[in-house]
Amino acid sequence: MFLSRRLIELKYKIAWYVGALLSFLLYFSGFVTLYTYLRRGYLKYPITIVLMYHRIGNNNTPDISVSTKNFDRQIAYLKRNFDIVSLDELVENYKHNYRLGKDIVAITFDDGYKDNYLNAYPILRNYNAPATIFLITNFIDKNPEMLNSKDILIMLNDKITFGAHTLNHKILSEIDHETAWLEISNSKFMLEEILQKKIKYFAYPKGKKKDYSEAIIQMVRDTGYEAAFSTENGCITNNTKNFFTLNRLGMRNYPLFVFKVRVSGIFESRLFIRFREYVRLT
Ligand SMILES: [Zn+2]
Repeated sequence: MFLSRRLIELKYKIAWYVGALLSFLLYFSGFVTLYTYLRRGYLKYPITIVLMYHRIGNNNTPDISVSTKNFDRQIAYLKRNFDIVSLDELVENYKHNYRLGKDIVAITFDDGYKDNYLNAYPILRNYNAPATIFLITNFIDKNPEMLNSKDILIMLNDKITFGAHTLNHKILSEIDHETAWLEISNSKFMLEEILQKKIKYFAYPKGKKKDYSEAIIQMVRDTGYEAAFSTENGCITNNTKNFFTLNRLGMRNYPLFVFKVRVSGIFESRLFIRFREYVRLT
């Protein structure tokens, strides 16, 4: 247990430094600015991204936290350079194949930590930015570290919407089908009861490909959700046909230049994917 936690921390640290170094080179060489300029202005190829946050503020979980100060800077940057839209606007946009003029971003939070209300919500409100929080239904009103129904109802009157993230945050591919079905469907129905609103979106716990299966995706469809989100990195494009495995970009406590590189879409571009394949082959 102790060793595996240390290994995860080590992996996190290595990924962090490699990512920061690469971002440093891409950003300060002017490459990202040039790439964004060409993509937006010359190729007329706007991107759509969904950001995934967990916790906002200083706490003892640095791998899933973004400091309040950095979060404020990140939202300010998005406000200047993107259309910040709700998940409703984003999904509608793609289902009806509207032509995009500008880069689009949607902001999401997984798990429903209390600090989403205490630290993130005032900043989102300040920038008039919509966001969606995926709640673990059985944690509501049970754990002081998580959002309670009062916090949720206050935010609901603003531009914050809510999605389901199961009842207990079990990894859906690791439990039997009957339990998985209850986790997926009852979380939706219970939230609808609390919020008196239709819950349209779902996020898979842990959210990597191995954490859900075709059968799980089908259960999410059958429950009546309109779209579901993974934690696989990527943009949403006109080629995105499956609305039940939508990609997101996981956010960490990045300095602003790393954040700018991440949201530029360069790591998700065909150019970079080819480069990664090439590196893997050699
Ligand atoms: Zn989660």
